[in-house]
Amino acid sequence: MQRTHIADIIKEEGKTVTLAGWVHARRDHGKLVFIDLRDRSGIVQVVFGPDVAGASELRLEYVIKVKGEVKKRPPSMVNDKIPTGAFEIGATELEILNRSGEMPIPVDTDGFDINEERRLQYRYLDLRRERLKNNIIARHKVIKFIRDFLAERGFIEIETPNLSKSTPEGARDYLVPSRIQKGNFYALPQSPQQYKQLLMVAGLEKYFQIARCFRDEDTRGDRQPEFTQLDFEMSFVAREDVMALNEELLIAIVKTLYPQKKIQEIPFPRISYAEAMQKYGTDRPDMRKDKNDPDLLAFCWVIDFPFFEKVKADAAHSEASAQEWTFTHNPFSAPKPEFMADLLAKKNIPDILTTQYDVAMNGLEVGGGSIRNHQPEALEAVFEIMGFKKERIYANFGHMLEALSFGAPPHGGIAWGLDRLVSLLQNEPNIREVIAFPKTGDGRDPMMGSPAEVEEKQLKELGIEIKKKS
Ligand code: ASP
Repeated sequence: MQRTHIADIIKEEGKTVTLAGWVHARRDHGKLVFIDLRDRSGIVQVVFGPDVAGASELRLEYVIKVKGEVKKRPPSMVNDKIPTGAFEIGATELEILNRSGEMPIPVDTDGFDINEERRLQYRYLDLRRERLKNNIIARHKVIKFIRDFLAERGFIEIETPNLSKSTPEGARDYLVPSRIQKGNFYALPQSPQQYKQLLMVAGLEKYFQIARCFRDEDTRGDRQPEFTQLDFEMSFVAREDVMALNEELLIAIVKTLYPQKKIQEIPFPRISYAEAMQKYGTDRPDMRKDKNDPDLLAFCWVIDFPFFEKVKADAAHSEASAQEWTFTHNPFSAPKPEFMADLLAKKNIPDILTTQYDVAMNGLEVGGGSIRNHQPEALEAVFEIMGFKKERIYANFGHMLEALSFGAPPHGGIAWGLDRLVSLLQNEPNIREVIAFPKTGDGRDPMMGSPAEVEEKQLKELGIEIKKKS
């Protein structure tokens, strides 16, 4: 269909154009019918005289094709809130491409006052609203920028499996039963951690992925069961290299895509975990000098975290109740070099600091990563400190220990919570506003009706029987 995007009509004054889009608003003045026509690029007023058939039939959200002349509006009628506001279309032809039933939710508001369950049930309509459309486009731009930036610096984008094996990232796994290997389960990855490290063993040196991660957690604030990480891993690097690259990328995203925003301090200030806890009572300090300025971004690095902490009674990854220590961030991390001897000797455990670095912004965690143990003895020591028996270490992580024994280069990486970063940049109150199809706080998708029961036959094939609650 030959059509002009609404945003482009400002270059077409006096010309006849064909537009296509949705009826955003409608005012029927009898002889004249006015509509606001919306497409992805913008909104414009269209005026139908009595000679254009069908105009009085138009209702909200009908999809139409309109031919007409681009006219300048009288100065007193200019709407300077929208870029096309100085123009209108004098329609000469109208074709209704599709009708719409009455809308279950309005789409011409910011949507904040609409019940979220209803917004998610009609997400395909909710996404028609300008705010959400802009968020989805902004997310695309951030991701495109990241891809270009990293590709220019020699990074390779590599996909890793979603059907994987249980990974110890501290949350519960989503399990997928195998039909062919009955009784066995895949786990959806909590992060691509092990694969990305194995890609370093493979010699690929610089990896990144816009990776979907899955964590089965109880409702906890602004979390989603599946979310997106920007995941990196690099070989032959020290902590400084990873931090420098990340800082450069974050600054470039803000300066290029959000020039109206100000970064409070460059280079990003660094604070140790101990100091952050003492001064701010949190390991993601909000360092903003003016908390009312929506355009102020106060990034900071938090470093020098303790490697281990005492197991909490309800920890999902605690195996036996006898387990005393667990990792604070990532079991694959290396300790800071001065603590390697203690790690290997399993001594002074609470004092061992990890190479972990977290980047926070305005009081929220944007990302975190570490330099890894590239020698198998060190990784094994971590699991031993956590009280894992040899058999369990080899059953769960034998592949990692083996891989590290074949010339694994020193390596490290980081992952960002991409949904969180985009929501902060877009000044949105939660990550659901920047995800096309998010789930509710309790993990449901009211639109698709998931999770859902499956057919008896499917369960049978999987060898699964559901115990009905009596
Ligand atoms: N895999 C880690 C995480 O998901 C990030 C990293 O250390 O690279 O938190």
